[in-house]
Amino acid sequence: MEGGEIKKYDVIIIGGGPAGLTAGLYTSRSRLNTLLIEIGLLGGQMTTTEVIENYPGFPQGITGDELSRLMEEQTKRFGLEVVSQEAVEVKTDRETKVVKTDDTIYHCKTLIICTGNEWQKLGVPGEKEFTGKGVSYCATCDAAFFQDCQIIVVGGGDSALTEALYLTKFAKEITIIHRRDALRGTKIYQERVFANPKIKLLWNSVVQEIKGDSVVQSVLVKNLKTGEMGELETEGVFLFVGLSPRTQFLKGLMKLDGAGYIITDENCETSVKGIFAAGDCRKKLLRQVATAVGDGATAAFAAEKFLEARK
Ligand SMILES: Cc1cc2nc3c(=O)[nH]c(=O)nc-3n(C[C@H](O)[C@H](O)[C@H](O)COP(=O)(O)OP(=O)(O)OC[C@H]3O[C@@H](n4cnc5c(N)ncnc54)[C@H](O)[C@@H]3O)c2cc1C
Repeated sequence: MEGGEIKKYDVIIIGGGPAGLTAGLYTSRSRLNTLLIEIGLLGGQMTTTEVIENYPGFPQGITGDELSRLMEEQTKRFGLEVVSQEAVEVKTDRETKVVKTDDTIYHCKTLIICTGNEWQKLGVPGEKEFTGKGVSYCATCDAAFFQDCQIIVVGGGDSALTEALYLTKFAKEITIIHRRDALRGTKIYQERVFANPKIKLLWNSVVQEIKGDSVVQSVLVKNLKTGEMGELETEGVFLFVGLSPRTQFLKGLMKLDGAGYIITDENCETSVKGIFAAGDCRKKLLRQVATAVGDGATAAFAAEKFLEARK
């Protein structure tokens, strides 16, 4: 790492989703000099979620935007410093943790990684070419562009189902294409999907290609049981085929599992002493706002204990 001004903190948090904002709330409130580095919107994946119904304390549910805003406001009350940058490299130099962004080098005594997840690509011809021209990974962001349109949603988990349900407010008809013969999503979302007259399901099928001229016009679909190919006309393709952790920049520094999730102990400490991980980027059973917030609090408390032990 070369060049640039070096700024020093007690704690640096990478990622400002619910895990990072909670970690920041705890460390700032403990009067630790903390910096949170966030490349996108504070709130992370919550900002692309219409309604969150299973986060305790909001009996009628709460929009992802509003929950993000409230969490941000709470951290600001305790003076959390936030910069809008991308962490591109992390190194350790004896006891110091070194974080590099595009234009700044930061040093800290302890680091908390909260970089969450991002959507996996389907990897078919046309996907890259038509991204933003009919191909989308976020219904909450793009649904309004598809008023009265014929839409395809790919996937069978919670995100595919909730996003398809949200799209029914705008689109004329939605076809969910799923490679299995049963959905993976939570039962309550399945019930809502089956009951919605705007949603059709195409089972045992995969998208082979996304076609169009300047915008999406159709998809080529293969039936995995019969091998039969078909072409479906559509104006929009929403892809929810799984998430992967944003940990590529950490490869070689700490233990990751085969899918790239950070391996931690029960206190959220990684294989590198003094570096903690919280939220969706960590190997764990359940990836939700409630568990991200719990991780953030644990990692912050463990980081504080780590600093106290160093004194
Ligand atoms: C469509 C959808 C619907 C969902 N619905 C629900 C629901 O109803 N209930 C529920 O509990 N959960 C829901 N979830 C899951 C929930 O949003 C996540 O579990 C939670 O947001 C994870 O929080 P996090 O802080 O670990 O990560 P994220 O929310 O992913 O935040 C990570 C942040 O880190 C930033 N970042 C990543 N890499 C870097 C870097 N190198 N430098 C700087 N910043 C970086 C990202 O920009 C992002 O803002 C939903 C998710 C999706 C996608």
